[in-house]
Amino acid sequence: METASLASSNANAFHTLHIAPALVSALTSYITLCDGPHDQLAVHAPFTGEVLATIPLASDADVELAVARARAAQPAWAARSFADRAAIFLRFYDLLVQRHAEALDLIQLETGKARCHAYEEILDTAIVSRYYALRAENLLRPRRRKGAFPLLTQTWEFHTPVGVAGFIVPWNYPLTLAVTDAIPALMAGNTAVLKPDRQTSLTALWAVRLLREAGLPADVLPVVTGEGTTVGPALAARVDFLMFTGSTGTGKSVAGRAAARLIGCSLELGGKNPMIVCADADVEKAADGAIRGCFAAAGQLCVSIERIYIHESLFNRFVDRFVERARNLKMGAALDYSVDLGSLTSPRQLAKIEEHVQDAVEKGAKLLAGGRRRPEFGPLFYEPTILTEVHENMKAYSQETFGPVVSLYKFTSEEEAVARANATNYGLNASVWSRNTRHAIDLARKIRAGSVNVNEGYIAAWGSVDSPIGGMKESGLGRRHGAEGILKFTEAQTIAVQRVPVVPLRGMSWDGFAKRLIRLLRLLRHTRI
Ligand code: NAD
Repeated sequence: METASLASSNANAFHTLHIAPALVSALTSYITLCDGPHDQLAVHAPFTGEVLATIPLASDADVELAVARARAAQPAWAARSFADRAAIFLRFYDLLVQRHAEALDLIQLETGKARCHAYEEILDTAIVSRYYALRAENLLRPRRRKGAFPLLTQTWEFHTPVGVAGFIVPWNYPLTLAVTDAIPALMAGNTAVLKPDRQTSLTALWAVRLLREAGLPADVLPVVTGEGTTVGPALAARVDFLMFTGSTGTGKSVAGRAAARLIGCSLELGGKNPMIVCADADVEKAADGAIRGCFAAAGQLCVSIERIYIHESLFNRFVDRFVERARNLKMGAALDYSVDLGSLTSPRQLAKIEEHVQDAVEKGAKLLAGGRRRPEFGPLFYEPTILTEVHENMKAYSQETFGPVVSLYKFTSEEEAVARANATNYGLNASVWSRNTRHAIDLARKIRAGSVNVNEGYIAAWGSVDSPIGGMKESGLGRRHGAEGILKFTEAQTIAVQRVPVVPLRGMSWDGFAKRLIRLLRLLRHTRI
Protein backbone atom coordinates (compact mmCIF):
# COMPACT_ATOMS: atom_id res chain seq x y z
CA MET A 1 0.00 0.00 0.00
CA GLU A 2 1.34 3.42 -0.88
CA THR A 3 0.15 4.78 2.48
CA ALA A 4 2.80 2.71 4.23
CA SER A 5 5.24 5.30 3.05
CA LEU A 6 3.60 8.02 5.08
CA ALA A 7 6.21 9.34 7.43
CA SER A 8 5.91 8.21 11.01
CA SER A 9 5.16 10.66 13.78
CA ASN A 10 7.74 12.87 15.29
CA ALA A 11 6.48 15.83 17.24
CA ASN A 12 9.94 17.38 17.48
CA ALA A 13 10.73 17.16 13.79
CA PHE A 14 7.41 18.01 12.21
CA HIS A 15 9.06 18.64 8.83
CA THR A 16 9.11 14.85 8.31
CA LEU A 17 5.33 14.64 7.97
CA HIS A 18 4.46 14.17 4.31
CA ILE A 19 2.50 12.03 1.84
CA ALA A 20 4.34 9.79 -0.60
CA PRO A 21 4.12 11.15 -4.19
CA ALA A 22 2.97 7.72 -5.42
CA LEU A 23 -0.07 7.94 -3.16
CA VAL A 24 -0.88 11.48 -4.30
CA SER A 25 -0.71 10.41 -7.92
CA ALA A 26 -2.80 7.27 -7.29
CA LEU A 27 -5.50 9.29 -5.53
CA THR A 28 -5.60 12.17 -8.00
CA SER A 29 -6.19 9.66 -10.80
CA TYR A 30 -9.73 9.34 -9.37
CA ILE A 31 -10.57 12.94 -10.34
CA THR A 32 -12.81 13.36 -13.39
CA LEU A 33 -11.07 15.72 -15.80
CA CYS A 34 -11.35 16.50 -19.51
CA ASP A 35 -8.25 15.83 -21.59
CA GLY A 36 -5.70 18.61 -21.70
CA PRO A 37 -3.62 20.59 -19.24
CA HIS A 38 -5.07 21.83 -15.95
CA ASP A 39 -3.86 24.50 -13.55
CA GLN A 40 -2.54 22.95 -10.36
CA LEU A 41 -3.04 24.08 -6.79
CA ALA A 42 -0.40 23.51 -4.12
CA VAL A 43 -1.92 22.24 -0.87
CA HIS A 44 0.09 22.97 2.27
CA ALA A 45 0.40 20.68 5.27
CA PRO A 46 -0.96 22.42 8.38
CA PHE A 47 1.57 20.62 10.59
CA THR A 48 4.57 21.95 8.66
CA GLY A 49 3.53 24.60 6.18
CA GLU A 50 5.27 22.57 3.48
CA VAL A 51 3.64 21.59 0.20
CA LEU A 52 1.73 18.36 0.77
CA ALA A 53 0.41 17.76 -2.73
CA THR A 54 -0.69 19.49 -5.89
CA ILE A 55 -4.29 19.13 -6.97
CA PRO A 56 -5.74 19.89 -10.42
CA LEU A 57 -8.20 22.76 -10.60
CA ALA A 58 -11.32 21.58 -12.40
CA SER A 59 -13.01 23.86 -14.93
CA ASP A 60 -16.62 24.28 -15.93
CA ALA A 61 -16.01 21.73 -18.73
CA ASP A 62 -14.72 19.17 -16.21
CA VAL A 63 -17.86 19.60 -14.12
CA GLU A 64 -19.99 19.22 -17.23
CA LEU A 65 -18.20 15.95 -18.00
CA ALA A 66 -18.59 14.66 -14.42
CA VAL A 67 -22.31 15.46 -14.31
CA ALA A 68 -22.85 13.92 -17.76
CA ARG A 69 -21.16 10.70 -16.64
CA ALA A 70 -23.15 10.60 -13.42
CA ARG A 71 -26.36 11.23 -15.36
CA ALA A 72 -25.62 8.45 -17.86
CA ALA A 73 -24.87 6.02 -15.01
CA GLN A 74 -27.99 6.84 -12.97
CA PRO A 75 -30.70 4.66 -14.59
CA ALA A 76 -28.62 1.47 -14.34
CA TRP A 77 -27.62 2.30 -10.78
CA ALA A 78 -31.25 2.97 -9.78
CA ALA A 79 -32.32 -0.29 -11.41
CA ARG A 80 -30.10 -2.32 -9.10
CA SER A 81 -31.75 -3.79 -6.03
CA PHE A 82 -31.38 -2.25 -2.57
CA ALA A 83 -29.58 -5.42 -1.49
CA ASP A 84 -27.09 -5.02 -4.30
CA ARG A 85 -26.36 -1.41 -3.43
CA ALA A 86 -26.26 -2.16 0.30
CA ALA A 87 -23.64 -4.88 -0.25
CA ILE A 88 -21.27 -2.25 -1.65
CA PHE A 89 -21.63 0.03 1.38
CA LEU A 90 -21.23 -2.89 3.78
CA ARG A 91 -18.02 -3.88 1.95
CA PHE A 92 -16.94 -0.23 2.24
CA TYR A 93 -17.61 -0.48 5.99
CA ASP A 94 -15.37 -3.56 6.19
CA LEU A 95 -12.58 -1.93 4.18
CA LEU A 96 -12.80 1.23 6.28
CA VAL A 97 -12.46 -0.75 9.48
CA GLN A 98 -9.51 -2.74 8.07
CA ARG A 99 -7.66 0.26 6.63
CA HIS A 100 -8.70 3.02 9.01
CA ALA A 101 -5.06 3.90 9.83
CA GLU A 102 -4.50 5.04 6.21
CA ALA A 103 -7.44 7.41 6.50
CA LEU A 104 -6.32 8.70 9.89
CA ASP A 105 -2.90 9.61 8.48
CA LEU A 106 -4.42 11.43 5.52
CA ILE A 107 -7.01 13.28 7.59
CA GLN A 108 -4.33 14.41 10.02
CA LEU A 109 -1.92 15.47 7.30
CA GLU A 110 -4.54 17.47 5.42
CA THR A 111 -6.31 19.05 8.41
CA GLY A 112 -3.64 19.07 11.13
CA LYS A 113 -6.10 17.69 13.69
CA ALA A 114 -5.09 15.33 16.48
CA ARG A 115 -5.52 11.61 15.84
CA CYS A 116 -8.15 11.25 18.58
CA HIS A 117 -10.30 13.78 16.70
CA ALA A 118 -9.61 12.23 13.28
CA TYR A 119 -10.78 8.94 14.77
CA GLU A 120 -14.31 10.34 15.20
CA GLU A 121 -14.54 10.46 11.43
CA ILE A 122 -13.82 6.76 11.07
CA LEU A 123 -16.51 5.87 13.60
CA ASP A 124 -19.01 8.25 12.09
CA THR A 125 -18.41 7.17 8.49
CA ALA A 126 -18.63 3.48 9.37
CA ILE A 127 -21.81 3.91 11.44
CA VAL A 128 -23.60 6.00 8.80
CA SER A 129 -22.63 3.60 5.97
CA ARG A 130 -23.97 0.64 7.88
CA TYR A 131 -27.12 2.50 8.93
CA TYR A 132 -28.21 3.42 5.41
CA ALA A 133 -27.05 0.10 3.93
CA LEU A 134 -29.35 -1.70 6.36
CA ARG A 135 -32.23 0.81 6.57
CA ALA A 136 -32.60 2.50 3.18
CA GLU A 137 -34.94 -0.09 1.71
CA ASN A 138 -37.34 0.14 4.61
CA LEU A 139 -37.18 3.94 4.76
CA LEU A 140 -38.02 4.18 1.05
CA ARG A 141 -40.38 1.24 0.62
CA PRO A 142 -43.72 1.97 -1.05
CA ARG A 143 -46.30 2.64 1.66
CA ARG A 144 -50.06 2.16 1.52
CA ARG A 145 -51.80 5.46 2.32
CA LYS A 146 -55.43 6.18 3.07
CA GLY A 147 -57.34 6.53 -0.19
CA ALA A 148 -59.51 9.51 -1.17
CA PHE A 149 -62.65 7.43 -0.73
CA PRO A 150 -62.54 4.54 1.73
CA LEU A 151 -62.69 1.18 -0.14
CA LEU A 152 -62.99 2.94 -3.51
CA THR A 153 -59.46 4.33 -3.86
CA GLN A 154 -56.22 2.44 -3.30
CA THR A 155 -53.26 4.72 -2.70
CA TRP A 156 -49.50 4.23 -2.40
CA GLU A 157 -46.65 6.59 -1.66
CA PHE A 158 -43.50 5.90 -3.67
CA HIS A 159 -40.07 7.52 -3.53
CA THR A 160 -38.12 7.97 -6.68
CA PRO A 161 -34.52 9.25 -6.88
CA VAL A 162 -34.08 12.92 -7.84
CA GLY A 163 -31.36 12.03 -10.38
CA VAL A 164 -27.86 13.50 -9.94
CA ALA A 165 -27.07 15.13 -6.59
CA GLY A 166 -24.16 17.54 -6.13
CA PHE A 167 -22.16 17.55 -2.89
CA ILE A 168 -20.07 20.56 -1.89
CA VAL A 169 -18.18 19.88 1.32
CA PRO A 170 -15.73 21.72 3.60
CA TRP A 171 -12.30 20.79 4.94
CA ASN A 172 -12.90 20.35 8.66
CA TYR A 173 -14.30 16.76 8.68
CA PRO A 174 -13.04 15.69 5.26
CA LEU A 175 -13.88 11.98 5.43
CA THR A 176 -17.24 12.22 7.19
CA LEU A 177 -18.54 15.12 5.13
CA ALA A 178 -17.30 13.74 1.80
CA VAL A 179 -19.30 10.54 1.99
CA THR A 180 -21.82 10.29 4.82
CA ASP A 181 -24.42 12.45 3.06
CA ALA A 182 -23.63 10.96 -0.34
CA ILE A 183 -24.22 7.38 0.86
CA PRO A 184 -27.96 7.83 1.55
CA ALA A 185 -28.29 9.65 -1.79
CA LEU A 186 -26.64 6.70 -3.56
CA MET A 187 -28.63 4.13 -1.58
CA ALA A 188 -31.78 5.92 -2.82
CA GLY A 189 -30.74 5.29 -6.44
CA ASN A 190 -29.22 8.66 -7.25
CA THR A 191 -25.78 9.18 -8.65
CA ALA A 192 -23.72 12.08 -7.33
CA VAL A 193 -20.82 14.42 -8.06
CA LEU A 194 -18.55 15.28 -5.17
CA LYS A 195 -16.60 18.52 -4.77
CA PRO A 196 -14.28 18.35 -1.78
CA ASP A 197 -12.61 21.43 -0.32
CA ARG A 198 -9.32 22.25 -2.05
CA GLN A 199 -7.42 21.66 1.22
CA THR A 200 -8.71 18.13 1.79
CA SER A 201 -9.24 16.52 -1.60
CA LEU A 202 -6.96 13.56 -0.90
CA THR A 203 -9.02 12.28 2.02
CA ALA A 204 -12.18 12.50 -0.08
CA LEU A 205 -10.44 10.73 -2.98
CA TRP A 206 -9.21 8.03 -0.62
CA ALA A 207 -12.82 7.40 0.45
CA VAL A 208 -13.92 7.26 -3.17
CA ARG A 209 -11.13 4.83 -3.96
CA LEU A 210 -12.28 2.61 -1.12
CA LEU A 211 -15.87 2.79 -2.40
CA ARG A 212 -14.66 1.72 -5.86
CA GLU A 213 -12.76 -1.17 -4.31
CA ALA A 214 -16.00 -2.08 -2.55
CA GLY A 215 -17.73 -2.28 -5.93
CA LEU A 216 -19.13 1.20 -6.59
CA PRO A 217 -19.17 1.79 -10.37
CA ALA A 218 -16.84 4.65 -11.36
CA ASP A 219 -19.45 7.04 -12.73
CA VAL A 220 -21.82 6.70 -9.79
CA LEU A 221 -19.70 9.14 -7.77
CA PRO A 222 -17.29 11.21 -9.88
CA VAL A 223 -15.08 13.72 -8.04
CA VAL A 224 -14.12 17.21 -9.23
CA THR A 225 -11.51 19.18 -7.31
CA GLY A 226 -10.69 22.85 -7.27
CA GLU A 227 -11.98 26.28 -6.38
CA GLY A 228 -15.44 26.55 -4.86
CA THR A 229 -16.14 29.69 -6.81
CA THR A 230 -15.68 27.79 -10.12
CA VAL A 231 -16.84 24.27 -9.34
CA GLY A 232 -19.72 25.26 -7.01
CA PRO A 233 -21.66 27.37 -9.55
CA ALA A 234 -20.82 24.88 -12.34
CA LEU A 235 -22.38 22.09 -10.28
CA ALA A 236 -25.35 24.20 -9.21
CA ALA A 237 -26.11 24.88 -12.87
CA ARG A 238 -26.37 21.17 -13.74
CA VAL A 239 -27.34 18.84 -10.90
CA ASP A 240 -30.88 17.96 -9.77
CA PHE A 241 -30.25 18.50 -6.05
CA LEU A 242 -27.51 20.27 -4.10
CA MET A 243 -26.22 19.32 -0.70
CA PHE A 244 -23.92 21.96 0.73
CA THR A 245 -21.95 21.92 3.96
CA GLY A 246 -20.00 25.05 4.80
CA SER A 247 -20.35 28.63 5.93
CA THR A 248 -23.66 30.44 6.17
CA GLY A 249 -22.50 33.10 3.70
CA THR A 250 -21.65 30.63 0.94
CA GLY A 251 -24.72 28.55 1.83
CA LYS A 252 -26.98 31.50 1.08
CA SER A 253 -25.42 31.95 -2.36
CA VAL A 254 -25.77 28.21 -3.07
CA ALA A 255 -29.44 28.39 -1.98
CA GLY A 256 -29.94 31.31 -4.38
CA ARG A 257 -28.57 29.29 -7.28
CA ALA A 258 -30.75 26.32 -6.37
CA ALA A 259 -33.81 28.58 -6.12
CA ALA A 260 -33.12 30.05 -9.56
CA ARG A 261 -33.33 26.54 -11.07
CA LEU A 262 -36.09 25.34 -8.70
CA ILE A 263 -34.00 22.40 -7.57
CA GLY A 264 -33.97 21.16 -3.99
CA CYS A 265 -31.10 21.92 -1.68
CA SER A 266 -30.00 20.95 1.78
CA LEU A 267 -27.69 23.26 3.71
CA GLU A 268 -25.57 22.42 6.75
CA LEU A 269 -24.07 25.73 7.88
CA GLY A 270 -22.34 27.52 10.73
CA GLY A 271 -23.10 27.79 14.43
CA LYS A 272 -22.35 29.73 17.61
CA ASN A 273 -23.24 26.87 19.86
CA PRO A 274 -24.16 27.44 23.51
CA MET A 275 -23.75 25.21 26.55
CA ILE A 276 -25.75 25.72 29.75
CA VAL A 277 -24.41 24.42 33.06
CA CYS A 278 -27.37 24.25 35.48
CA ALA A 279 -27.09 24.72 39.24
CA ASP A 280 -27.48 20.96 39.79
CA ALA A 281 -24.84 19.91 37.24
CA ASP A 282 -21.89 17.72 38.12
CA VAL A 283 -19.21 20.40 37.82
CA GLU A 284 -16.28 18.09 37.11
CA LYS A 285 -18.14 16.20 34.41
CA ALA A 286 -19.40 19.45 32.88
CA ALA A 287 -15.89 20.93 32.76
CA ASP A 288 -14.48 17.75 31.21
CA GLY A 289 -17.38 17.70 28.72
CA ALA A 290 -16.67 21.33 27.83
CA ILE A 291 -13.07 20.39 27.00
CA ARG A 292 -14.37 17.80 24.52
CA GLY A 293 -17.13 20.07 23.24
CA CYS A 294 -14.95 23.16 22.72
CA PHE A 295 -11.60 21.84 21.57
CA ALA A 296 -12.23 18.80 19.34
CA ALA A 297 -10.48 19.41 16.02
CA ALA A 298 -9.14 22.61 17.63
CA GLY A 299 -12.70 23.96 17.66
CA GLN A 300 -12.97 23.75 13.87
CA LEU A 301 -16.17 21.82 14.13
CA CYS A 302 -19.59 23.17 13.20
CA VAL A 303 -21.20 21.74 16.34
CA SER A 304 -18.46 22.73 18.79
CA ILE A 305 -19.27 24.89 21.81
CA GLU A 306 -18.24 28.57 21.68
CA ARG A 307 -20.37 30.02 24.53
CA ILE A 308 -20.84 28.58 28.02
CA TYR A 309 -23.49 29.89 30.43
CA ILE A 310 -22.78 28.75 33.98
CA HIS A 311 -25.05 29.08 36.99
CA GLU A 312 -23.58 31.60 39.44
CA SER A 313 -23.59 29.05 42.28
CA LEU A 314 -20.92 26.94 40.59
CA PHE A 315 -19.26 29.44 38.26
CA ASN A 316 -15.93 29.61 40.12
CA ARG A 317 -15.62 25.85 40.60
CA PHE A 318 -16.41 25.24 36.92
CA VAL A 319 -13.92 27.88 35.76
CA ASP A 320 -11.11 26.50 37.95
CA ARG A 321 -11.54 22.97 36.65
CA PHE A 322 -12.09 23.98 33.02
CA VAL A 323 -9.10 26.34 32.89
CA GLU A 324 -6.84 23.78 34.54
CA ARG A 325 -7.89 21.07 32.05
CA ALA A 326 -7.47 23.42 29.07
CA ARG A 327 -3.98 24.48 30.16
CA ASN A 328 -2.95 20.86 30.49
CA LEU A 329 -4.02 19.76 27.02
CA LYS A 330 -0.99 18.41 25.19
CA MET A 331 -0.48 19.99 21.78
CA GLY A 332 1.62 18.66 18.96
CA ALA A 333 1.99 17.22 15.47
CA ALA A 334 1.99 13.46 15.75
CA LEU A 335 0.46 10.69 13.68
CA ASP A 336 -0.43 8.79 16.85
CA TYR A 337 -2.59 9.25 19.94
CA SER A 338 0.09 10.97 22.02
CA VAL A 339 -1.42 14.48 21.79
CA ASP A 340 -4.77 15.97 22.82
CA LEU A 341 -4.92 18.90 20.44
CA GLY A 342 -3.63 19.38 16.92
CA SER A 343 -3.11 22.31 14.63
CA LEU A 344 -5.48 24.69 12.92
CA THR A 345 -5.96 23.86 9.26
CA SER A 346 -5.22 27.08 7.41
CA PRO A 347 -3.63 30.51 7.83
CA ARG A 348 -7.12 31.90 7.12
CA GLN A 349 -8.48 30.18 10.26
CA LEU A 350 -5.52 31.31 12.35
CA ALA A 351 -6.03 34.90 11.20
CA LYS A 352 -9.75 34.81 12.06
CA ILE A 353 -9.13 33.34 15.50
CA GLU A 354 -6.43 35.89 16.31
CA GLU A 355 -8.69 38.67 15.08
CA HIS A 356 -11.55 37.55 17.38
CA VAL A 357 -9.33 37.13 20.44
CA GLN A 358 -7.43 40.36 19.89
CA ASP A 359 -10.64 42.31 19.30
CA ALA A 360 -12.15 40.91 22.52
CA VAL A 361 -9.07 41.60 24.63
CA GLU A 362 -8.68 45.13 23.25
CA LYS A 363 -12.28 45.86 24.19
CA GLY A 364 -11.91 44.59 27.75
CA ALA A 365 -12.37 40.81 27.72
CA LYS A 366 -10.20 38.78 30.10
CA LEU A 367 -8.06 35.86 28.97
CA LEU A 368 -8.27 32.99 31.46
CA ALA A 369 -6.23 30.61 29.30
CA GLY A 370 -4.52 30.56 25.92
CA GLY A 371 -4.61 33.41 23.45
CA ARG A 372 -1.24 32.59 21.87
CA ARG A 373 0.23 30.82 18.85
CA ARG A 374 2.58 27.91 19.57
CA PRO A 375 5.06 27.98 16.67
CA GLU A 376 7.34 25.44 18.33
CA PHE A 377 4.79 22.76 17.30
CA GLY A 378 4.10 24.06 13.80
CA PRO A 379 3.03 27.23 11.99
CA LEU A 380 -0.70 27.00 12.75
CA PHE A 381 -0.89 25.86 16.38
CA TYR A 382 -3.00 28.02 18.68
CA GLU A 383 -3.61 27.44 22.38
CA PRO A 384 -7.03 26.48 23.75
CA THR A 385 -8.38 29.87 24.72
CA ILE A 386 -10.91 30.80 27.40
CA LEU A 387 -12.39 34.30 27.66
CA THR A 388 -14.67 36.07 30.15
CA GLU A 389 -16.17 39.54 30.17
CA VAL A 390 -17.11 39.16 26.51
CA HIS A 391 -19.75 41.68 25.42
CA GLU A 392 -21.98 42.44 22.47
CA ASN A 393 -19.52 44.86 20.87
CA MET A 394 -16.94 42.07 20.43
CA LYS A 395 -16.68 39.74 17.43
CA ALA A 396 -16.30 36.65 19.63
CA TYR A 397 -19.68 37.40 21.23
CA SER A 398 -21.87 36.58 18.26
CA GLN A 399 -19.75 35.62 15.25
CA GLU A 400 -18.65 32.04 14.67
CA THR A 401 -14.93 31.85 15.53
CA PHE A 402 -14.46 28.24 14.37
CA GLY A 403 -11.43 27.73 16.54
CA PRO A 404 -10.34 26.72 20.07
CA VAL A 405 -11.90 29.81 21.63
CA VAL A 406 -14.77 29.87 24.12
CA SER A 407 -16.44 32.63 26.16
CA LEU A 408 -17.79 32.05 29.67
CA TYR A 409 -20.84 33.83 31.10
CA LYS A 410 -22.49 33.68 34.53
CA PHE A 411 -26.27 33.39 34.83
CA THR A 412 -28.78 33.64 37.67
CA SER A 413 -31.99 32.15 36.30
CA GLU A 414 -32.48 29.45 33.69
CA GLU A 415 -34.94 31.65 31.79
CA GLU A 416 -32.12 34.15 31.38
CA ALA A 417 -29.70 31.41 30.28
CA VAL A 418 -32.13 30.10 27.64
CA ALA A 419 -32.86 33.62 26.37
CA ARG A 420 -29.12 34.32 26.03
CA ALA A 421 -28.46 30.95 24.40
CA ASN A 422 -31.19 31.75 21.85
CA ALA A 423 -30.03 35.33 21.20
CA THR A 424 -28.20 34.42 18.00
CA ASN A 425 -28.90 34.11 14.30
CA TYR A 426 -27.55 30.56 14.47
CA GLY A 427 -29.33 27.42 15.71
CA LEU A 428 -27.13 24.42 15.06
CA ASN A 429 -26.22 22.64 18.28
CA ALA A 430 -26.43 23.17 22.05
CA SER A 431 -25.54 21.39 25.27
CA VAL A 432 -27.28 21.28 28.67
CA TRP A 433 -25.72 19.92 31.87
CA SER A 434 -27.89 18.83 34.81
CA ARG A 435 -28.20 15.84 37.11
CA ASN A 436 -31.97 15.89 36.50
CA THR A 437 -32.49 14.42 33.03
CA ARG A 438 -36.21 15.28 32.85
CA HIS A 439 -35.46 18.87 33.71
CA ALA A 440 -32.57 19.02 31.23
CA ILE A 441 -34.82 17.76 28.42
CA ASP A 442 -37.45 20.37 29.29
CA LEU A 443 -34.78 23.04 29.10
CA ALA A 444 -33.38 21.60 25.86
CA ARG A 445 -36.84 21.85 24.25
CA LYS A 446 -36.72 25.64 24.80
CA ILE A 447 -33.46 26.03 22.86
CA ARG A 448 -33.81 26.85 19.17
CA ALA A 449 -31.14 24.49 17.85
CA GLY A 450 -31.35 21.45 15.59
CA SER A 451 -29.63 19.29 18.22
CA VAL A 452 -29.25 19.57 21.97
CA ASN A 453 -26.99 17.22 23.91
CA VAL A 454 -27.69 16.54 27.57
CA ASN A 455 -24.52 16.00 29.62
CA GLU A 456 -22.36 15.95 26.48
CA GLY A 457 -21.12 18.55 24.00
CA TYR A 458 -22.04 17.26 20.56
CA ILE A 459 -21.26 13.60 20.08
CA ALA A 460 -24.43 12.15 21.63
CA ALA A 461 -26.74 13.82 19.12
CA TRP A 462 -24.36 13.64 16.18
CA GLY A 463 -23.73 9.94 16.73
CA SER A 464 -27.47 9.14 17.02
CA VAL A 465 -27.70 8.60 13.29
CA ASP A 466 -31.25 7.25 13.43
CA SER A 467 -32.47 10.75 14.34
CA PRO A 468 -32.33 13.82 12.05
CA ILE A 469 -29.80 16.56 12.75
CA GLY A 470 -29.20 19.98 11.21
CA GLY A 471 -29.62 23.68 11.69
CA MET A 472 -32.44 26.02 12.63
CA LYS A 473 -32.35 29.71 11.67
CA GLU A 474 -29.18 30.61 9.71
CA SER A 475 -27.53 27.30 10.55
CA GLY A 476 -29.18 25.51 7.70
CA LEU A 477 -32.04 24.07 5.80
CA GLY A 478 -33.01 20.40 5.84
CA ARG A 479 -31.57 17.60 7.92
CA ARG A 480 -29.04 14.79 7.65
CA HIS A 481 -29.30 11.36 9.33
CA GLY A 482 -32.42 9.29 9.97
CA ALA A 483 -35.32 9.12 7.53
CA GLU A 484 -34.98 12.80 6.59
CA GLY A 485 -31.36 12.22 5.60
CA ILE A 486 -32.44 9.95 2.74
CA LEU A 487 -35.97 11.14 1.89
CA LYS A 488 -34.60 14.52 0.81
CA PHE A 489 -32.77 12.83 -2.06
CA THR A 490 -36.06 11.51 -3.45
CA GLU A 491 -39.19 12.84 -5.06
CA ALA A 492 -42.32 11.62 -3.32
CA GLN A 493 -44.86 10.26 -5.76
CA THR A 494 -48.47 9.33 -5.01
CA ILE A 495 -50.12 6.68 -7.15
CA ALA A 496 -53.82 6.19 -6.56
CA VAL A 497 -56.10 3.62 -8.19
CA GLN A 498 -59.80 4.48 -8.36
CA ARG A 499 -61.97 1.34 -8.48
CA VAL A 500 -65.32 3.04 -9.02
CA PRO A 501 -65.77 6.66 -10.12
CA VAL A 502 -67.38 8.86 -7.48
CA VAL A 503 -70.23 10.34 -9.53
CA PRO A 504 -74.04 10.13 -9.21
CA LEU A 505 -75.33 6.62 -9.85
CA ARG A 506 -77.43 6.15 -12.96
CA GLY A 507 -80.74 7.95 -12.50
CA MET A 508 -79.52 9.96 -9.46
CA SER A 509 -79.52 13.76 -9.74
CA TRP A 510 -76.38 15.78 -8.84
CA ASP A 511 -78.55 17.49 -6.21
CA GLY A 512 -79.37 14.18 -4.52
CA PHE A 513 -75.82 12.94 -4.87
CA ALA A 514 -74.38 16.12 -3.29
CA LYS A 515 -76.82 15.85 -0.34
CA ARG A 516 -75.74 12.22 0.24
CA LEU A 517 -72.08 13.27 0.21
CA ILE A 518 -72.76 16.03 2.75
CA ARG A 519 -74.50 13.42 4.98
CA LEU A 520 -71.40 11.26 4.58
CA LEU A 521 -69.13 14.16 5.59
CA ARG A 522 -71.25 14.69 8.74
CA LEU A 523 -70.96 11.01 9.58
CA LEU A 524 -67.18 11.00 8.98
CA ARG A 525 -66.77 13.78 11.54
CA HIS A 526 -67.69 11.23 14.23
CA THR A 527 -65.39 8.45 13.01
CA ARG A 528 -61.61 7.96 12.96
CA ILE A 529 -61.48 6.33 9.52
P1 NAD B 1 -16.99 27.70 2.90
O1 NAD B 1 -18.41 28.06 2.77
O2 NAD B 1 -15.97 28.74 2.61
O3 NAD B 1 -16.61 26.45 1.95
C1 NAD B 1 -17.33 25.25 1.98
C2 NAD B 1 -17.30 24.62 0.59
O4 NAD B 1 -17.93 25.49 -0.33
C3 NAD B 1 -15.89 24.37 0.06
O5 NAD B 1 -15.87 23.16 -0.65
C4 NAD B 1 -15.69 25.53 -0.89
O6 NAD B 1 -14.77 25.25 -1.92
C5 NAD B 1 -17.09 25.69 -1.45
N1 NAD B 1 -17.38 27.03 -2.01
C6 NAD B 1 -16.71 28.18 -1.83
N2 NAD B 1 -17.29 29.17 -2.54
C7 NAD B 1 -18.36 28.62 -3.17
C8 NAD B 1 -19.36 29.14 -4.02
N3 NAD B 1 -19.40 30.43 -4.38
N4 NAD B 1 -20.31 28.29 -4.47
C9 NAD B 1 -20.33 27.01 -4.11
N5 NAD B 1 -19.37 26.46 -3.31
C10 NAD B 1 -18.41 27.26 -2.83
O7 NAD B 1 -16.82 27.11 4.34
P2 NAD B 1 -15.50 26.99 5.19
O8 NAD B 1 -15.27 28.27 5.88
O9 NAD B 1 -14.40 26.43 4.41
O10 NAD B 1 -15.96 25.88 6.27
C11 NAD B 1 -16.25 26.18 7.56
C12 NAD B 1 -17.72 26.51 7.71
O11 NAD B 1 -18.48 25.35 7.46
C13 NAD B 1 -18.07 26.92 9.13
O12 NAD B 1 -18.99 27.98 9.10
C14 NAD B 1 -18.72 25.68 9.70
O13 NAD B 1 -19.60 25.92 10.77
C15 NAD B 1 -19.41 25.13 8.50
N6 NAD B 1 -19.67 23.69 8.67
C16 NAD B 1 -20.94 23.28 8.89
C17 NAD B 1 -21.20 21.95 9.11
C18 NAD B 1 -22.59 21.46 9.42
O14 NAD B 1 -22.80 20.26 9.35
N7 NAD B 1 -23.53 22.32 9.75
C19 NAD B 1 -20.16 21.01 9.07
C20 NAD B 1 -18.88 21.47 8.83
C21 NAD B 1 -18.63 22.82 8.63
